[in-house]
Amino acid sequence: MSVKDLQRRDLARIWHPCSQMKDYEAHPPFVVDRGEGVWLYDVEGRRCLDAVSSWWVNLFGHNNDRLNGALRRQAEKLAHCIFSDFSHGPAIELAERIVTLAPPGLERVFFADNGSAAVEVALKMSFQYHRLRGDAGRKTFLSFSDGYHGETLGALAVGGLGLYGAVFSPLMMETLKVPSPDCFRCPYGRKREACDVPCFEAMERCLAERGRESCAVIVEPLLQGAAGMKVYPPAYLAKLRRACDEAGAHLIADEIAVGMGRSGTFFACEQAAVTPDFLLVSKGITGGYLPLSLVVTTEEVYRAFYGDYNEGRAFLHSHSYTGNALACAVACETLNLFDEGILEVNRVRGAFIEEAVRSRFEGHRHVGEIRRLGMVTAVELVEGPGGKAFDRSCRVGHSVYRRALERGVLLRPLGDVLYFMPPYVISDEEVLFMAGRAGEALEATL
Ligand SMILES: *Cc1c(COP(=O)(O)O)cnc(C)c1O
Repeated sequence: MSVKDLQRRDLARIWHPCSQMKDYEAHPPFVVDRGEGVWLYDVEGRRCLDAVSSWWVNLFGHNNDRLNGALRRQAEKLAHCIFSDFSHGPAIELAERIVTLAPPGLERVFFADNGSAAVEVALKMSFQYHRLRGDAGRKTFLSFSDGYHGETLGALAVGGLGLYGAVFSPLMMETLKVPSPDCFRCPYGRKREACDVPCFEAMERCLAERGRESCAVIVEPLLQGAAGMKVYPPAYLAKLRRACDEAGAHLIADEIAVGMGRSGTFFACEQAAVTPDFLLVSKGITGGYLPLSLVVTTEEVYRAFYGDYNEGRAFLHSHSYTGNALACAVACETLNLFDEGILEVNRVRGAFIEEAVRSRFEGHRHVGEIRRLGMVTAVELVEGPGGKAFDRSCRVGHSVYRRALERGVLLRPLGDVLYFMPPYVISDEEVLFMAGRAGEALEATL
């Protein structure tokens, strides 16, 4: 079967995510036959470097021997079983280990099967917690006006990106929105590295005025992914924790993208020494192999739901594939891979990626900012000085994407923000290839 045949059959039947399918007529999909490390190959041997870790999920490369082994061993015992009244070793081990890795005070683990589902679980748990405590006035949630928490209706309602949510707004619950920190175009003229976050005043005001109606504040700690890899200082999170406590609202840390070492520490909250009431983990938890998510919460939240059956306190939420055994076994092996000093190695690797990207992009007249948090380096393209953005209809980022793909690098820019978020196993040589080809793609575009 040739690549062309596969593409034709794909387009005859498949509706791809987050895509205008008409675009596929000029640019049919890259049909992957196999993966190896940071590379994806088609049946004819063409390859591209997965610089976005296949939508931020892959940590230790495609076709990883260790993860393959864990998957194979578990498949020979049990793939999946019901998770109510039943349990299994991989889930028990995973829950124990994630609690030891999470910020202190997070002790109870609820399982789901994707990031959006974890967000829904946290929103529902927080809401029901307040009801159980007799605080029925809390009915809304507070979040950033350009936050991203997934694409089911509840997750969209606490998200702020019109691209994904605007059309569905009549279906959504009303929530409160606060402008997020914007360090590149800082209205206060501060520098990210030395900042006392005066921008927190918007959040502070909203929590003071509406905090008592709010169940929780949900944020992506330190790095707002889909908003364009926007990085903000830990001081903001520390202030947010205190303000939530004063308002009696929960803090939900959505670490679905930034957890599992992406931020440089295992969880981003560590950098602010903050314990949220809910920590959401997904994406990298299985090294990019299988869908799984975890909601890690406090003993206090758990206890509020605890009681006799007839009291009606239980959290009645489930998904068919909750606690999938294959996914849990691969997640445990993913944690084993971290035991080999990967965060220390990544400190050097992250700095090397930034240096390689700077050497290709810095000084270009359309590069507004190059920023990095841990293993994520982003390049924000601008039309001109002062951070003036391109008109969206120019699809500049999309043009760079097309040209980079022709050169063997898979980027997936967020608007006009190019970013490099490769699997942790990328070699120095591959980093130079990635940054070099992406730089050529930018030159060819602008
Ligand atoms: C990807 C993502 C989600 C949604 O996860 P899905 O598995 O795609 O539903 C939620 N929050 C953040 C921060 C994400 O990056």
